[in-house]
Amino acid sequence: MSDRHRDTPRGRLGKPGCWVVKIGSALATNEGRGLNIEAINGWADQFVALRSAGINVAVVASGAVAEGIARLGWSRSRRSLHESQVAAAVGQMGLVRAYELAFQRHNLHAAQILLTHDDLANRERYLNARSTLLALMRLGVFPVVNENDTVATEEIRFGDNDTLAGLVCNLLDADLLLILTDQEGLFTADPRHNPQATLVHEGRAGDEVLDEMAGGSGIWGRGGMLTKLRAARLAARSGGATLIASGRDPAIIARIAAGEDVGTLLLPQHGTGKLAARKQWLAGTGKVRGQLHLDEGAARVIRQDGRSLLAVGVLRVNGKFERGALVGCVDPEGREIARGLCNYSSEDTEKILGLASTSIEQVLGYSHEPELVHRDNLVVLTSA
Ligand code: GLU
Repeated sequence: MSDRHRDTPRGRLGKPGCWVVKIGSALATNEGRGLNIEAINGWADQFVALRSAGINVAVVASGAVAEGIARLGWSRSRRSLHESQVAAAVGQMGLVRAYELAFQRHNLHAAQILLTHDDLANRERYLNARSTLLALMRLGVFPVVNENDTVATEEIRFGDNDTLAGLVCNLLDADLLLILTDQEGLFTADPRHNPQATLVHEGRAGDEVLDEMAGGSGIWGRGGMLTKLRAARLAARSGGATLIASGRDPAIIARIAAGEDVGTLLLPQHGTGKLAARKQWLAGTGKVRGQLHLDEGAARVIRQDGRSLLAVGVLRVNGKFERGALVGCVDPEGREIARGLCNYSSEDTEKILGLASTSIEQVLGYSHEPELVHRDNLVVLTSA
């Protein structure tokens, strides 16, 4: 019997929310022989059905390098970074076109998002990527994300799309990271070598016993089970669950949404809500670059209601920072009551202090967001 509508971890997966779905290279390119258009169409059909059920989807699509190698007629042996970058430039064209055409069959749009590590490490670009992705999903467009392999050098790479997908999960506060791969899920040992190996149905992402169970990687995708486990731990930082399942099953996505017991479900920490987990993580990363001194009213609504901070409630700015910086919010008694990511640089914040959000555009000539610090990016400090 299906778990759908039941209040179990599996049953809850089908609820409205946001999924990040990572589809591995081997699946998308028929093990490197060339794009599997039929499979891509099938996934797109299921994503469209998810959307109708209130689940937004961002796809992390691998296969640029593998498809490029196939198009260039190169052998499948390991390639240098430079050759992979060349292949990615060729293959990404076909990959993204395949997804575009697949969604076009439903009169829907896809959007290409290419990211490097820097884009997410840098707070300003992090906020830009977040608002663009959220805006695309609000418009009903399906984001198709990949690493910008052509410009990513060793130092600035995510390295594999499992990691990228985990970070995109944090970016979007996604409920689920679904990793579609060529295996049924995570096994207690490598099933190719150990007939005793059994599928792990459910676990906690942070559980250390899982490390021993995860093995090496295949030749097309860079990530093996270990990177999938790490990606699950990334997703858990913002309270997301991870499901590792076989993309060979053409109805896998629909089955997961229906609450069926397929693949390995890795849950985030006990007891931490999604938003609380994400905020904890936000507050714990990066340095505080400046302070916003609040008036009585702003301090009260933040402390009591956890509302967004508007420019109208800010009296003074301390420090020099860029858009996206982590800033402290200080009450009239000088106590730091909250921390959050500021949507405007210190210079621009100075200009809009005390003003209503509707005047921001007039004063600055542009407006990122009506809030100075959005409540999703604001952590009220418990001691406050
Ligand atoms: N970004 C790579 C590609 O699209 C895939 C990386 C991975 O397999 O994890 O070819």
